[in-house]
Amino acid sequence: MTKQRVLSGMQPSGLLHLGNLMGALDNWRKLQDQYECYYFIADWHALTTNYADTSNIRAHSREMVIDWLAAGLDPERSVLFQQSLVPEHAVLHVLLSMSTPLPWLERVPTYKEKMDQIQDREMNTYGFLGYPVLQAADILIYKAHFVPVGIDQLPHLELTREICRRFNQLYGEVFPEPQPLMTEYPKLPGTDGRKMSKSYNNCLYLSDNPETITKKVMQMITDPARIRRQDPGNPDICPLFALDRIFAPKEWCDHVNVECRRAGIGCVDDKKELLKHLLAYLKPMQDRRAELAANPQMITEIVQEGSRKARVIAAKTLAEASEAMKL
Ligand code: SF4
Repeated sequence: MTKQRVLSGMQPSGLLHLGNLMGALDNWRKLQDQYECYYFIADWHALTTNYADTSNIRAHSREMVIDWLAAGLDPERSVLFQQSLVPEHAVLHVLLSMSTPLPWLERVPTYKEKMDQIQDREMNTYGFLGYPVLQAADILIYKAHFVPVGIDQLPHLELTREICRRFNQLYGEVFPEPQPLMTEYPKLPGTDGRKMSKSYNNCLYLSDNPETITKKVMQMITDPARIRRQDPGNPDICPLFALDRIFAPKEWCDHVNVECRRAGIGCVDDKKELLKHLLAYLKPMQDRRAELAANPQMITEIVQEGSRKARVIAAKTLAEASEAMKL
């Protein structure tokens, strides 16, 4: 039986952290069992906000693929490719842009939000506004059945679906409407208690060695009201406990949940126990990562081969779209 197709991409914006692993990568890895998966390095998308400084895009792309493979993405089962090596995305983007009304793009919630957030660069660009059309092209060119999304990305996918419907109404049924594959991601706190994010400099990276992870966890913020060992703490508001819940066994979490509240356990004890489980969890990934990083040629070949495979599908769909438009 033919498997249904899933598509997803990631911008090469730096090393991947534990939040990326638990939030997206781990899900991508599992989807490989059930679907025909296409995962891509969204290097053109990275340009929409970082067009002026492109110096890191190549290095970041390579590191990201190493993290993907270390986390269990399998090039034998999934197509791992680079957006800029499949120029058909750009051509379909142009075709879709002709029939996409401007207000559809201007009303995307993240458009205005990001415009307000990013103050150090000129963001009033054609590329930034057109980002969702490129995203629609990325998805539609593979006729993807499903796109894994969190709740906040739903409006983007809805726009892709609108762009898809408009094209099909104008020129005939070329593209199936992609459906969301809703995913509940655990929210991972960073070492300062805020959401783990590169911009907060609070991440545990997949590429961090055990010493670095240990140092970061030992310095991690816990319940801010628990100043001395004899103060009772509150696991419900403790960011470290949120990591316990993901990486430590349930018995330990139950124990901490009781003992912390009566100062029966110290934060250092909890951190040491968490580290035991976290490091054991990361070890196989870090070993694989070291092997992969020592073989840059293999990484290049995997991406080139994946991009070649992706191009075959992309070229076929683009030909159908052009034919439907009588070009
Ligand atoms: S003992 Fe654990 S749960 Fe309690 S405050 Fe310390 S780190 Fe947080």
